[in-house]
Amino acid sequence: MELISAKKLLSPWQKGDHWFATNYNFNIYKGCSHGCIYCDSRSQCYQIENFDEVRGKENAIAILEMELISKKKKGIVATGAMSDPYNPQEKKYELTRGALKLLAKYGYGASVTTKSDLVLRDIDLYKKIAEFSPAVVHFTITTAEDHLCKLVESNVTVSSKRFLAIKKLSEVGIFTGVRIWPILPFINDSAENIRQLIRMSAEAGARYVSPYFGVTLRQNQQTYFYQALDRKFPGLKTKYIQAFGNRYECISPNKNRLNTILVEECNRYGLLFRMEDIVKAIKEKYEVNQISFF
Ligand code: SF4
Repeated sequence: MELISAKKLLSPWQKGDHWFATNYNFNIYKGCSHGCIYCDSRSQCYQIENFDEVRGKENAIAILEMELISKKKKGIVATGAMSDPYNPQEKKYELTRGALKLLAKYGYGASVTTKSDLVLRDIDLYKKIAEFSPAVVHFTITTAEDHLCKLVESNVTVSSKRFLAIKKLSEVGIFTGVRIWPILPFINDSAENIRQLIRMSAEAGARYVSPYFGVTLRQNQQTYFYQALDRKFPGLKTKYIQAFGNRYECISPNKNRLNTILVEECNRYGLLFRMEDIVKAIKEKYEVNQISFF
C-alpha cells in the first residue's frame, strides 16, 4: 500500500449532531478497494484519482492525537464516509485501530461505518470506548442475498457474515445499526428484500434500520455504475436511462410501498428508523451517566 502524508485529519461534522449523533469526522485511508458498483465516493467532485487503490495516511495517528488534545469539546468521531476504514490493508497497517485507541485514550465516542467483519478485531476497543461514551458500529447492507451482494459489492464481507458480525457486537453491548442504502431501482428494491433485511437486522440485535430507497448518480460515478450494469445486469442500463434520464437522484418506483413496509416491519420488531429516535438512543445512556459529554 502506498503511504501518503496528511496535513489535517479531523473535521467538524457539517450537518450537526442530528445525523447519527456525529460531531467530528475523519478518513484515515484514501480510496477504497471494496468495489461497490454504486459508490458515490468515486464521483468527480471528490477528486480521488485511482479510487480503487487504497492509500494510507502515514502520519494520521500523530495528527489525530494533536487534534483530539486541542479540541475544547469532546464528542462522537465518525469514520467511513469516503472509504471503508476496514479495507483489507487495515489488517496489516492498523491505522483505524490506532485511531480507536486514541478515541478511547482521550474520552471521545466512536461512530464507524463499514462493510467488513474485520471490525470484530477491534471489539476490545469498542467495549472500552462504550464504558464512557457512545461506541456505534453502522453496517451498510443493501441485500439479504449473498449472491446479489457479490454482484453489487464484489469485495466486501457478504451480507450473511455482516449480520453475524452485528450479532457478535450486539451481544457484548455495542450499539449497532443497519443502513439499507442505496436500494437500487430494479435490482434490490423488492418488498421481499426489505422485509428480509429488517428481520435479519432485528435477529442480529441491531438497534436501527435506516433506508434510502434510491441511488444518487453523478459524473464518473454514473459511468462506473452503467459499465457495471452492462457487465452484470445486461439490459438494465437502458431501463435506467429510460426511467431517470440524467437525473442525480434515481428513486425506486416502489418507494412508497417500501416505506410502508419499513415502518410496519420496524415497528413489529422494535427497531428504530427515524433519525431523531436513533440519535436519542445513541446518546441516552451517556446523557444520564455523564451529562458533560454532550
Ligand atoms: S465500501 Fe463504501 S467507500 Fe468503499 S467502495 Fe463501497 S461504497 Fe465506496
